[in-house]
Amino acid sequence: MTTLLPPARFGGAFRTDVRARAAYAEGAGIYRILPDAVSLPETVADLERLVCWAAELGVPLVTRGAGSAVSGSSVGAGVIVDLTRMQPVALEVDPGRRRAVTGASVTYQTLADAARAYGLRLPPDPSSGAFATLGGMVATNAAGARSVKYGPVRPWVHAVELVTADGESCTLERGASAGAADALALARFADQAAPAIARSHELIEERFPRTRKNTSGFALDAYSASGDLVDLVIGSEGTLGIITEIEWDLVAVPRHIGGMLIQLRDLDALADVVTALGRLEPSAVEFLDRSFLEVLPPAERPAGAAVLLVEFEAEGARQMRGRVGDAVRAVDAWADDVQTALSEAEFADLWRLRHAASPILAGLPDSRRSLQVIEDGCVPLDRLTAYLRFVRARASDLGLPVVIFGHAGDGHLHVNVLPDVDRPGWEEAVGALMTAVTDEVLRLGGTPAGEHGDGRLRAGLVERLYGSDIMALFALVKAAFDPRGILNPGVILTEEWAPLDQLKTGPHAVRLPPDIAEALRTLERSAGYGQSRIALADRN
Ligand SMILES: Cc1cc2nc3c(=O)[nH]c(=O)nc-3n(C[C@H](O)[C@H](O)[C@H](O)COP(=O)(O)OP(=O)(O)OC[C@H]3O[C@@H](n4cnc5c(N)ncnc54)[C@H](O)[C@@H]3O)c2cc1C
Repeated sequence: MTTLLPPARFGGAFRTDVRARAAYAEGAGIYRILPDAVSLPETVADLERLVCWAAELGVPLVTRGAGSAVSGSSVGAGVIVDLTRMQPVALEVDPGRRRAVTGASVTYQTLADAARAYGLRLPPDPSSGAFATLGGMVATNAAGARSVKYGPVRPWVHAVELVTADGESCTLERGASAGAADALALARFADQAAPAIARSHELIEERFPRTRKNTSGFALDAYSASGDLVDLVIGSEGTLGIITEIEWDLVAVPRHIGGMLIQLRDLDALADVVTALGRLEPSAVEFLDRSFLEVLPPAERPAGAAVLLVEFEAEGARQMRGRVGDAVRAVDAWADDVQTALSEAEFADLWRLRHAASPILAGLPDSRRSLQVIEDGCVPLDRLTAYLRFVRARASDLGLPVVIFGHAGDGHLHVNVLPDVDRPGWEEAVGALMTAVTDEVLRLGGTPAGEHGDGRLRAGLVERLYGSDIMALFALVKAAFDPRGILNPGVILTEEWAPLDQLKTGPHAVRLPPDIAEALRTLERSAGYGQSRIALADRN
């Protein structure tokens, strides 16, 4: 490989040394891929120059926020584009219009803190909010526990500023027409992709899964419904452009938060309980499977086949009592025990259980790695129990321990697979589980990617989910926005797919300088994704 030289007049850092490349070889998720170089643009002009340079040389660009994506979309060969040094960093809340404008590198938590000062919030609340950047959240259409009421980030994005694959900046705003005059990419889209998408309205309606969440492919369904190009960029995982700024819609913080912890007697009624609760408009319905509860210390472990944590919002204490009371009655026939919480403080105490397992899983010995390969399946609500039972049974047949939890109100389960990586044949077993569970998700009418996107992990499954006609439309979208294929190639659309190659664990893992490998492992164990990776490369 010839060493890459930085673009002319590039103002930020551009590094090709092995320590810098190693520091960006991993994100969350299963992969370790050494990039060719790392760039840290400092201005939009730097970013435009970088993109023009990459287009001319045909060099792939992998945009990166905190690197917490679990589907392998923020790692790759080519040049990493770390946006965390971009200036100026916008963070303005307009309480009168209930809007905020933020730079792409601002974290969810920073926006949440700024908005809260005005009694406002961005409702979708990923559990990675302390470190996930807002650019990364838009690019993955991130969601959270409250998405059962408020959806993923999509409806809350009013506009984005984008650097296109031609190195041009443009704005995509809801309700405002953006077209040929604004950027070459938009002209190509209007000419080559928009007419075909318009003719395919019924096909799109028929082929997109009928799940409450879906982050697979490009969101042709949302774009068809709204006509807003911003809907295609949301969830495009850095493959259609690089977001530099976002305008958000916000809502008022609710006056009262409360809820309940339900110990379920058995799993057969799971879908019925969740449907009954859904009628009462909860703001979260989270599921903790027995496999999750078993990881907890015995003293903190609730009984029952599984636990549901249900959150309600209300304008007054009386309304909250009414909501929680209705919910207790609705689930009575299926519950072994119900604990209620009528204030935010009491509810926070119940919610602690939701976060208790992560540090325990992260602390497992190196031989027992927690791998995310079937972590994001989402199925229609009435098939949730069937899906859960299938995952449990197939994992058990293959001798693979799993820990299952998730957003039951959306029919969405996170499954962490915990293979013994010292056991010969573990990779084949994990591959067999991935194949079987994917087949089942598709058979049940679900999507393998509820909120984490396709990334590299699931890119080869997109055609199975949608079929070749929709793939042809996806290809038109990609060709219009990124004709030279420089933006995150191999993510969402791929020609060569080997999802369990280039793992960060096992004998074939690429070797990194030992101190950096160790630091990345520590970062993973402590969920320290907010840490600067370039600082990590430079710390010795
Ligand atoms: C412990 C943990 C908990 C998590 N919980 C949740 C959860 O509750 N809900 C959820 O949805 N996800 C969750 N995730 C996944 C992850 O945090 C989200 O996908 C998050 O949105 C990624 O943000 P990031 O800044 O880390 O993006 P990165 O990982 O850096 O990038 C993610 C993708 O976005 C692209 N990208 C990043 N910035 C830009 C930009 N400015 N312009 C264009 N493309 C860009 C990248 O190329 C990549 O494809 C969790 C992850 C971890 C490790």
